[in-house]
Amino acid sequence: MRSLSIFGATGSIGESTYDLVRRAEEGAYRTVALTGGRNIDRLAEMARALRAELAVTAYEDCLPALREALAGSGVEVAAGAQAIAEAADRPADWTMSAIVGAAGLVPGLRALQNGATLALANKESLVTAGPLLMGTARANSATVLPVDSEHSAIFQALTGEDPSCVERIIITASGGPFRDWSVERMAGATLAEAVAHPNWAMGQRISIDSASMFNKALEIIETREFFDIDPSRIEVLVHPQSIVHALVGFCDGGIMAHLGPADMRHAIGYALHWPDRGAVPVERLDLAKISTLSFQAPDEERFPALRLAREVMEARGMHGAAFNAAKEIALDHFIDGRIPFPRMAALVEETLTRMSARPDMARAPSSLDHVLEVDAEARRLAAAIAEGA
Ligand code: NDP
Repeated sequence: MRSLSIFGATGSIGESTYDLVRRAEEGAYRTVALTGGRNIDRLAEMARALRAELAVTAYEDCLPALREALAGSGVEVAAGAQAIAEAADRPADWTMSAIVGAAGLVPGLRALQNGATLALANKESLVTAGPLLMGTARANSATVLPVDSEHSAIFQALTGEDPSCVERIIITASGGPFRDWSVERMAGATLAEAVAHPNWAMGQRISIDSASMFNKALEIIETREFFDIDPSRIEVLVHPQSIVHALVGFCDGGIMAHLGPADMRHAIGYALHWPDRGAVPVERLDLAKISTLSFQAPDEERFPALRLAREVMEARGMHGAAFNAAKEIALDHFIDGRIPFPRMAALVEETLTRMSARPDMARAPSSLDHVLEVDAEARRLAAAIAEGA
């Protein structure tokens, strides 16, 4: 029996992970910890169904409700960011990192310090502190498995290959709901329009990031950090059907493409069964029915997030942390209706320019405190810029 924990269990990735665990045969898994945010009813329901040892909410004010919902179940309860970090100290054979945003960094890092096998959906932790995260994994003989569909695809295409023969990595992008929109039209985009992803059912934040292509920007940086590949060898290809998730080009001119349905349970299932392959209940592709796979170059004028990602990779150091923090603030402001859609990229760019004046920005993230400090300053600065200060 394998033990597992799910951080961010009540989210979109968390639900898909839960679904796979629930479908597994009786006795296949033992659940150590489940964490969530404000969706207490769902967290409690999952904890009861999986007979978890521990359920943690990120918010102290949600603790009484969680305690009440799990009364008599034998599931321990806890609350707060510290309790989530401590949950990562409980040994588990497999850990899913699916908290959204930079809040996912601390538990992921803690799990790696404990030698975990970490299925990493939380791309923000690699963007903010890639060298720290991967270095911690190496130092503790821990394993990081990519869960983002593009990175899982690359990982699968690279299995058994000689890394020195890799010429380029191409990650695909659906283009999101605004793929063909002009900047003028995007200026009037509503929240509902930005969330309506054409292919994937995801959490609200990542859906909006897909519409602005900030999600792809994070993924380019994630690719650089995870696979340790020079940024000039990473390409983005717009592929509206979301069937090919990534391609790897080799030195003999061949390209390995990974195809799969737009269902995150494929990538999660791959990580769950790794290093083996196991059956995963996703729809099988009918390529004759799909009939056409199309590709086009991305438009960095309309989607400046892609250009910003290249600048961040060029500058490296603490720029990833500042980029992600500013992006999260810009996203909050768009969600709250305080800034129009295209303003998000301008806000991130302005924050990065002003953060670059910090003398430590070129230094690699050496400690968690350093990352959190840069993250906090970039958030303050982005909020001040958004409010016109
Ligand atoms: P969701 O918004 O659906 O879920 C986020 C989860 O994190 C929920 O469990 C939420 O709790 C919890 N949470 C929110 N804020 C905090 C906090 N401050 N501290 C602790 N927990 C918190 O996100 P997704 O599942 O869509 O995405 C999760 C991660 O996976 C993101 O990093 C995303 O970029 C990445 N990812 C997602 C994909 C997808 O298809 N959804 C694809 C590839 C990567 P609650 O809901 O109870 O408040």
